[in-house]
Amino acid sequence: MATFGSLSDRLTAALANLRSKGVLTASDVDGTVREIRRALLDADVNLDVVKQFTANVRERALGADINKALNPAQQVVQIVNDELIGILGGEQRRLEFAKQPPTVIMLAGLQGAGKTTLAGKLAKWLENDGHTPLLVAADLQRPNAVQQLQVVGEQAGATVFAPEPGNGVGDPVRVAKDAVRFARDKQHDVVIIDTAGRLGVDQELMKQAANIRKATDPDEVLFVIDAMIGQDAVATAKAFQEGVDFTGVVLTKLDGDARGGAALSVASVTGRPIVFASTGEKLEDFEPFHPDRMASRILD
Ligand code: GDP
Repeated sequence: MATFGSLSDRLTAALANLRSKGVLTASDVDGTVREIRRALLDADVNLDVVKQFTANVRERALGADINKALNPAQQVVQIVNDELIGILGGEQRRLEFAKQPPTVIMLAGLQGAGKTTLAGKLAKWLENDGHTPLLVAADLQRPNAVQQLQVVGEQAGATVFAPEPGNGVGDPVRVAKDAVRFARDKQHDVVIIDTAGRLGVDQELMKQAANIRKATDPDEVLFVIDAMIGQDAVATAKAFQEGVDFTGVVLTKLDGDARGGAALSVASVTGRPIVFASTGEKLEDFEPFHPDRMASRILD
């Protein structure tokens, strides 16, 4: 994955240095931990996350087990792998479905994060799995947003619920509520609500998203974050957690050449799992997120 290319090279190089050593001394471990720390910081991983990560690696690598190990270098690789899985959220977290359909999934995030594109990707992925999703245009801020969702809906072969002219136009809370009722009547088992985003965190936008959340009681609120935004990722995630709260994270634009480490820190900082990853503009460029696979890719 282009986004983590440099981080991956640096971590692999740091660990490769250990391989030539039969026995590891405390200073070997410290040297490697220092290199890992620098690699993570250079990739924009959040400082608190880096501190915790390196402290854990150091403590475990200097622990009793490693000294007795036949191949100490391999053990350190394993420890780094485990800790990476840890910051990425541990176990894979699957999408939660409601016991009583429709399942309501609300998307939140800054403008340009990739919410509308994600709505289409999610719809297609759900359809492939036998669901009948309804896409809801509750982004009434941007002039073209409704039309953009209609285009995406058409590509995905999904029905789009948009406000009728003169009927609740300008009130995204009402549109979202009506859409859930429509889904129930028309047998759509999943409702995906696309909400408005601004370029920066904005209190009015937060209030609107919080009101949509209150009105529709979603099973999932997915915070969509563009891996390219770099250092701002963590502050933005915290603002959305406070303003709307979310149940999971979607990382987008992992195909880009950004350093990506800040986005990787979001799960750890907010305590919310990464549920999906988006890796391109096409509807197929999308997959459920597996912390263990991502860790292996980074350490590959
Ligand atoms: P929204 O404002 O949050 O709804 O964002 P959009 O869905 O409109 O996406 C903004 C731009 O990012 C569009 O040009 C999308 O094609 C593009 N985009 C979305 N997801 C990805 C992705 O994973 N990779 C790349 N390269 N581009 C993406």
